[in-house]
Amino acid sequence: SSGAPNSRTENSRELFERASRIVPGGVNSPVRAFRSVGGTPRFMVSGAGCRMTDADGNTYVDLVCSWGPLIVGHAHPHVIDAVGRAAAKGTSFGTPTPGEVALAEELTARTGVDKIRLVNSGTEATMSALRLARAATGRTKIVKFAGCYHGHVDPLLASAGSGVLTLALPDSPGVVGTDETIVLPYNDVDAVKRAFAENPGQIACVITEAAAGNMGVVAPRDGFNRELAAIAHADGALVILDEVMTGFRVSKNGWSGYSGDTADLYTYGKVMGGGLPAAAFGGRDELMSRMAPEGPVYQAGTLSGNPLACAAGLATLELCTDELYAKLDATSVTLQGLATKALAEAGVPHRVSTAGNMFSVFFTDADVPNLEAAQTQDAAAYRAFFHAMLDRGVYLPPSAYEAWFVSGALDDDALGLIADALPHAARAAAKV
Ligand code: PMP
Repeated sequence: SSGAPNSRTENSRELFERASRIVPGGVNSPVRAFRSVGGTPRFMVSGAGCRMTDADGNTYVDLVCSWGPLIVGHAHPHVIDAVGRAAAKGTSFGTPTPGEVALAEELTARTGVDKIRLVNSGTEATMSALRLARAATGRTKIVKFAGCYHGHVDPLLASAGSGVLTLALPDSPGVVGTDETIVLPYNDVDAVKRAFAENPGQIACVITEAAAGNMGVVAPRDGFNRELAAIAHADGALVILDEVMTGFRVSKNGWSGYSGDTADLYTYGKVMGGGLPAAAFGGRDELMSRMAPEGPVYQAGTLSGNPLACAAGLATLELCTDELYAKLDATSVTLQGLATKALAEAGVPHRVSTAGNMFSVFFTDADVPNLEAAQTQDAAAYRAFFHAMLDRGVYLPPSAYEAWFVSGALDDDALGLIADALPHAARAAAKV
C-alpha cells in the first residue's frame, strides 16, 4: 500500500502505542483495533459531513458512520447547534428534564410503542428488556440466534456477532448465565419450533435483531420474524425485536415500520442518540408499567436521558424525513451496484446482502441466510479489499462481519471517489 495517498500513519501509530500501554489492546471497543484486517487503527480527529480526518491529516469518506448513529453525517450544523445550546445550559441534572420528554414523545410517535425508557447504550437496552421479559413471564430461559449481537450482556454473549465474531471469541470467559440461553441458527423456523417443543413453558423470550447486521447484513427471510413471534406467543413467551441498528435507519421508525414485523418489546440505540450516548427500550403499557418506580422491575442510570444526548437525538430525528430515507435508499442502491460491478469485473466471488438501506458484501459464492454461511467468506480477500479502499480514502468497517452504513451527507464527489477506488480494491481482493 506504500505510495497510496492515505498511507501516512505516523501519528496514529504513536497514539496507538501510547494507548496500548494503558488501555487493553489500545482501544475502548475491540473492533476498533483492526485485529482482523491488520495495520494501524486510524485515530480520528475531526469529521464534517460524509468525511473524517485522522491524526496524520488523511481524509476518508466514511461508510461506517460511528457504526450507525451518524445518519446525517459528521458534525451536522443542526445537531451541533442543538448540542451546543443544551450544553450551555448544563450537562446533567439528575432530575427529569424537558428534553427527555420531547425525545420519548418523538420515539413513541414514530414507533407506536406505548411507553419507553431511556438508557445510555444498546447493551443497557437489551439487558433491561431481557430482565423485563423474564420478570413478566416468570421464566428464565431465552432464545437468541447465532451471529446476532445484542451488546455485551452476559446471557447474550453466546455465539454473538460483531467484535466477538471478528475476534473469533465464540464465548467470553467471565460470563455467567449462558446455560439459560438457547442459541439457534438464524432464519430457521423449524429450530424455533423444536426449541419450544423441548422447553415448554420455560422460555421467557426470543430476542432477535430486527434484521441481522452483526454477522454482516442478513435480512430475515420473508415471514421469519412473524413466524417466530407466533411460535413464541403460542407458548406464552415474549419477543424482543432488537432495533438498535435498524431503528430510525431503515425507515422513519425502523425495521418494524419497514416490514410490518411486530414484537412485545423493542430496543433502540445508535441513530436515536445522534452520536451521543442514548438508547431505549419500550413496549406496550402492560409490560412497561412493570418497571420501577411504577412496578417492581429495577433499572436506573445516573446519566439516563442526558440532556446533551437527548438534544443530539432529537435534532437528528428532526432531519430523518421521508426525503432523507429516499436518499439513503438510493445511495445504498448506487453503492451496491458499484461494488457488484467492480467485484464482478475482477472475478471476485461475492454476495451483496441488504436489509433496507443497510448492506454488506460477503466475499463468498454461497447464499448467506445465517452465520454458518457468512463464515464461508474469504477473510483474506476482505482484508486486501479493506486496505485498498482505506489507502484510497474510503473508510469501510474494519471487519468482514459488519454492515456498511450510508449517511445523508454522501455527495457526488464522495460517490465518485468510492467508484474510482472500488476497481483497485476488487483487483487487490482478486490477487489474494
Ligand atoms: N444491539 C444491536 C443490534 C447492535 O448492533 C448493537 C451495537 N452494535 C448493540 C445492541 C449494542 O449497542 P451498544 O454498543 O450501544 O451497547
